Amino acid sequence: MNPNCIFCRIIEGQSPNDTVYEDDRVIAFLDINPAAPIHILIVPREHISSINQVQDDQEELIGHLFTTAKHLAEVNNIAESGYRLIINTGPDAHQAVFHIHLHLLGGHQMRYPMG
Ligand code: AMP
Ligand code: ZN
Repeated sequence: MNPNCIFCRIIEGQSPNDTVYEDDRVIAFLDINPAAPIHILIVPREHISSINQVQDDQEELIGHLFTTAKHLAEVNNIAESGYRLIINTGPDAHQAVFHIHLHLLGGHQMRYPMG
């Protein structure tokens, strides 16, 4: 728990949010400023600032973010139409919240190419 981190405060129930899924390792809630009809953030309960800080023994936790995304894509009926998973890391990628989060975006045709 990092008291200066907005996502830690959400995890601790200290900040309002629209939670759509939670288990012992992750929580998922709606992005406050959605960039697509479905925009969910999947967040490990453990505070890890960015992918740059991931340790070898956290590989399974990072994998769990992706299997949770797969589950939420099915629940939201976008598994077949398609979706985009994004983890922004550092300034060039516009990372704004320094607690790892996997963006699940779907429900419309995405712009391409990326980057
Ligand atoms: P990133 O640029 O990958 O760090 O994205 C941070 C994301 O967190 C943005 O899409 C924000 O809209 C979202 N966000 C920031 N604060 C909150 C909040 N309190 N509840 C839900 N989403 C948030
Ligand atoms: Zn945090």
